[in-house]
Amino acid sequence: MARIKDSSVRDVVAAADMVEVVSGRTQLRRASGSRFTGRCPFHEEKTPSFSVNPVEKLYYCFGCGKGGDVISFVRETENLDFVGAVEWLAERFRVPIEVEEASPRVDAERRRRERLYSVLDQTAGYFERLLWDGEAGASVREYLASRGLGEEVAKEFRLGLAPGKGLAEKAKERGFTLDELKAAGLVTVRGTDYFPQRLMFPLADARGRVVGFQARKLREDDPLRGKYVNTPEGDLFHKGSILYGLHLAKAAIGKQDFAAVVEGNTDAIALRQAGFEPVVASMGTALTERQLRELGRMTKKLVLCFDADAAGQDATLRGMELAVGQGFDVRVVTLPEGQDPADAPDGFADRLRTAESYLVYRVRLEIERSSDRQEGFVRAREVLAKAEDSPERQEALRLLADRLDLPRDTLAGLAPARGSTARRTEESPRLLGAGDRLEREVLAACVAHPSLVRGLAELSPDHFDAEVNRRFRDVLVTGREDPELTALRAELDARAAQEEIDERTGKELLLRLRERKLKRDLAGADLARTTELQAHLAMVRQSLAELI
Ligand SMILES: [Zn+2]
Repeated sequence: MARIKDSSVRDVVAAADMVEVVSGRTQLRRASGSRFTGRCPFHEEKTPSFSVNPVEKLYYCFGCGKGGDVISFVRETENLDFVGAVEWLAERFRVPIEVEEASPRVDAERRRRERLYSVLDQTAGYFERLLWDGEAGASVREYLASRGLGEEVAKEFRLGLAPGKGLAEKAKERGFTLDELKAAGLVTVRGTDYFPQRLMFPLADARGRVVGFQARKLREDDPLRGKYVNTPEGDLFHKGSILYGLHLAKAAIGKQDFAAVVEGNTDAIALRQAGFEPVVASMGTALTERQLRELGRMTKKLVLCFDADAAGQDATLRGMELAVGQGFDVRVVTLPEGQDPADAPDGFADRLRTAESYLVYRVRLEIERSSDRQEGFVRAREVLAKAEDSPERQEALRLLADRLDLPRDTLAGLAPARGSTARRTEESPRLLGAGDRLEREVLAACVAHPSLVRGLAELSPDHFDAEVNRRFRDVLVTGREDPELTALRAELDARAAQEEIDERTGKELLLRLRERKLKRDLAGADLARTTELQAHLAMVRQSLAELI
């Protein structure tokens, strides 16, 4: 397909007069600063809630939530695709546009990515050979056997052994550069192996291409702390978008129209070995938006399988809520204390039949977590209030009545949410939880005050809980473009203006986010780390005190 040159798109956007374009659809008047406001062209309203930034050429409606840039405005109002909208603007503002068949920059980027896929694939092959062919692999082969994992299934998942040193030299022999190895997350900045001698699980995307590794500790003298270590986030590897085993499971997931999600990689392997195929592993983290989007292409039915420890954790619950919010039918199985799916893979399908619906599970959990009947009732009521009427909700109500020994008329007061309001309120930005609000305000401040982006770059992605916020952080820090996030940029830009977030407030918000992360880290830290974290926290609080 003919493609408009990026430089032409930039020329067109630069030449377009945002106020003139929007004025063709609604009357605008000047608001504070350089901004304009008017009645929204996308929904009926009497008082203006449509905000336009003529400098950045962004719009956002505080009423209906529509937002974007000048191109998306033309797409929406003129009902055009991207190319059509750019041509429409080019004609209107008399900008010549150039078309090309394929841009050299895109070609170069594609070639680079192909090289990274290739080095990862060849490295996986090298790790496999070390595991199966060499003396070094003997003890690891024994370990796999002791876990009941046969050679056939281990080879299907391409398990391997990292040598712990010399990877850069090996790869150079094959014509790869040190830069490529770094970009693939295989060596450190100093050029030494990123992974110590460990059992390696290649992590593949849905197409089966290796994008990274998870490495399991084998020896006591391992220099890295974690039992599992992943490839660092990079060009190809984003932990939040990987579901372990998806490329092998996807045919079965599609055919059987459901997916079982377990926690550990070895659980997924053991289950596949036992003949249970529609299974993926979340690698011990809560489900993310990207993972759910991937699964949603194949099925809308999920059975989530947790061990007793993980089942009640907030992160786990957030993942479930996310899935329910995206319209998945979610069922939950909790395993008895100390048991993995891999411990009894043959009975797994039977166990799945005992799965509870998300609502029943959640109501039970809220009751169990409460110190008395009253608290249990209040917490369960909160969960039920968000759900529309359904057989699952009826079942959850019955459970609540049974457990708390409630009379029927008490339950009559627990009316279900009407229509789709439950889902909508979840997405409404005004009803975001306090945590997400902080994340959004930080990002809004950085959109409004680019000088703050340096401070944002000093925060790691895991200062943010929401996947979309992490992506947006990445966009701000790298200056990369992500058309999917244009609407969010417009929203944050409008909010920063409306809430009058100045630079000093932005600095404070950045410190608050830092403080939140440190407090969370402290909750799970050992003694040595506690001292270190507390010192950090004291510094952050000192900076906050100086600001305020
Ligand atoms: Zn609107």
